[in-house]
Amino acid sequence: MGNMPKKNYDVVIVGAGPSGAAAARGLANERLEVLILEKKKLPRYKMCSGIIFKKSQDITERLWGKIPDSAYVTPKLLKGVRLWSDNKHFSDWPFNSAPNVWRSEYDYWLIKNSGAEVKDCCSLKGFKDYGNYIMLECHDTRNNETINIRCKYLVRKTGCMGNDMCTSGRFYLGKGKVLLVGEAAGFLNAFGEGISCALSTGLFAAEVITKGIKSGNDALAIYTELTKLERRQTKMSWKLGAKIAGRDLMPI
Ligand SMILES: Cc1cc2nc3c(=O)[nH]c(=O)nc-3n(C[C@H](O)[C@H](O)[C@H](O)COP(=O)(O)OP(=O)(O)OC[C@H]3O[C@@H](n4cnc5c(N)ncnc54)[C@H](O)[C@@H]3O)c2cc1C
Repeated sequence: MGNMPKKNYDVVIVGAGPSGAAAARGLANERLEVLILEKKKLPRYKMCSGIIFKKSQDITERLWGKIPDSAYVTPKLLKGVRLWSDNKHFSDWPFNSAPNVWRSEYDYWLIKNSGAEVKDCCSLKGFKDYGNYIMLECHDTRNNETINIRCKYLVRKTGCMGNDMCTSGRFYLGKGKVLLVGEAAGFLNAFGEGISCALSTGLFAAEVITKGIKSGNDALAIYTELTKLERRQTKMSWKLGAKIAGRDLMPI
């Protein structure tokens, strides 16, 4: 994964999480040249409970097949969660058994089998959109050098710290030929579950970019339309979370 990338791609995906993996997997069959950039060394550590809920499991199995045994924690299946409000009081939230994985192993398996070229230890530092192409400035930390890469579409994942969806109800879907997916766009539900919407928005991004490249369609407009239900469900979860917490979190 340390090879020097080429200088020209149809699509560059920044971030080797589930949203980036799904976008790459969705683009893989379209004969497009796709590069995934990841700033950390792969497999990378990811802070997460690693619960693969039904929707995430369905998408994973449809696109990649069964999750390998090496990705599971012990025990493999989780039957519920216990939420402590202080050191005496808790409530149990049982659910149908859900796979429980190490995110480092699960994400790495998704990425390795995404069909895209992958470059780790390489961070996106900035980019300039010239309309018919985008020029990226990246830092290769292995060789401590700057790399410039040109692409037609950019799929981005920046840190979730920049996102205010839970308080504002706003999503950030992108601009022009730059699309935001997963948590970066605001897709994380109030109960901390975000893998399913990372996978589904990654797939939507792949679909609209394919249409954009092959038919000249406005990818962002179609992406906005396709993510409508996902946005609604995410907002609903925050409304419910706010109600349970007895707070007015979001003005919607
Ligand atoms: C404590 C905790 C527990 C959670 N538990 C669950 C759970 O049990 N189940 C569940 O479904 N969800 C859970 N989530 C949410 C879930 O982890 C996220 O929603 C999900 O990982 C989002 O996927 P993503 O692909 O959008 O981003 P990420 O998985 O965050 O991947 C983004 C990647 O982009 C890389 N990156 C960022 N900036 C750059 C850059 N400039 N250049 C190159 N690479 C870059 C990062 O290093 C990272 O690898 C949990 C979250 C937390 C914090």
